[in-house]
Amino acid sequence: MTREKSEVYIISDVFKNISKLPPLLPILYFLLVRTLKLNMELFIISVIALTMQLHRMQLPREVVVGNETLPLLSEICKKLGFCESALVVTGPDTQSIAGRRVIDLLSDKGMDVDVFVVKSSTLWEVRAVEEKIKDLKPQVVLGVGGGTKIDVAKLSSTRQGIAFISVPTTASHDGIASPVAAIKGLKKPYSVMAQSPMAIVADTDIIIRSDYRFTASGCGDLVSKFTSVRDWELAYKVKNEYYGEYAASLALMSARLVTKNADVIKPGAEEGLRLVLEALISCGVAMSIAGSSKPCSGSEHLFSHSLDLVEPNGCLHGEQCGVGTIMMAYLYDIDWKGIKDTLQRAGAPTTAEELGVEPESIVKALVQACTIRPERYTILNTKKLDYASAKKLAKVTSVIS
Ligand SMILES: [Zn+2]
Repeated sequence: MTREKSEVYIISDVFKNISKLPPLLPILYFLLVRTLKLNMELFIISVIALTMQLHRMQLPREVVVGNETLPLLSEICKKLGFCESALVVTGPDTQSIAGRRVIDLLSDKGMDVDVFVVKSSTLWEVRAVEEKIKDLKPQVVLGVGGGTKIDVAKLSSTRQGIAFISVPTTASHDGIASPVAAIKGLKKPYSVMAQSPMAIVADTDIIIRSDYRFTASGCGDLVSKFTSVRDWELAYKVKNEYYGEYAASLALMSARLVTKNADVIKPGAEEGLRLVLEALISCGVAMSIAGSSKPCSGSEHLFSHSLDLVEPNGCLHGEQCGVGTIMMAYLYDIDWKGIKDTLQRAGAPTTAEELGVEPESIVKALVQACTIRPERYTILNTKKLDYASAKKLAKVTSVIS
């Protein structure tokens, strides 16, 4: 079966790119053309060819968010051309929460469905799922569960070149809809590019029954866009990196939405949960449009990845990112108090104590954050933190006392 995807190819504005060239390059080119007595038309075509960039976007085709949406899964699979076989990647707990239901729903429609239960998002698990894919040759992989299961399903399906569908059981971070996966055991202690889900089916009736802590963590991942977009802008201005205003605006809109509605995001509130899910999915789409995690992952994410290394069994990704955002917003001199207030209203942690980590770990994580991903240019490159300044930053924002 041919794999169908919603892919959009955009040829960047070539003239915009000409201005991004190192200043001397067009001059050298011009001199070369003059010396060789070539005509101006050929010169312009040459510059355009030199600067033209192909920007590829891979977007989900079906996104369903709402109450009792899980039964729509079989119809969506059929619509996407997956009528024969599927592999469900789920966890020991999520199997009983939703995994078993997904298997029954697809089996009832005559599909040949296998299941693989993963316990963690390690490279070892990814390889084990890959072996299963090679063996069973399913048409599609469905990730059913929290971030861990979705990440394993996403990366293993990408490596084996088959489609992936995301069925989240929590709203803890934007990985439920993004093209990136966080896997332990890779050389990098941060998310790597994989593929966007072809469909996302988020059943609020299932997700609302998860521990509210996950949803509050999702809010932490959402407010982090206030600083990640700033970092992306900074990289564009200082390092001349690609920057997409549309993707940046989309990511920012999600952060603003959660800020505006933080009071309705609370345990048992479907309206708030739906809002968080839609905002997380928008962030995933923003990354798909950008072709990178940059609109949604900046210095606050570097802090979170760094804290993972300092305290390996710490807290949820979004919880750490939220606390990181408070401190990075202070460095940017933007409304860090407002960000803290949003997190508090949504019930997300804002201090080391609430995160359950030692104050010293926060300081250590801040100091080494800029070394986690040296190629990602952020505020931590311009405002270098040593032990004293990191401690001061954590104290002034009341993350530590
Ligand atoms: Zn994140």
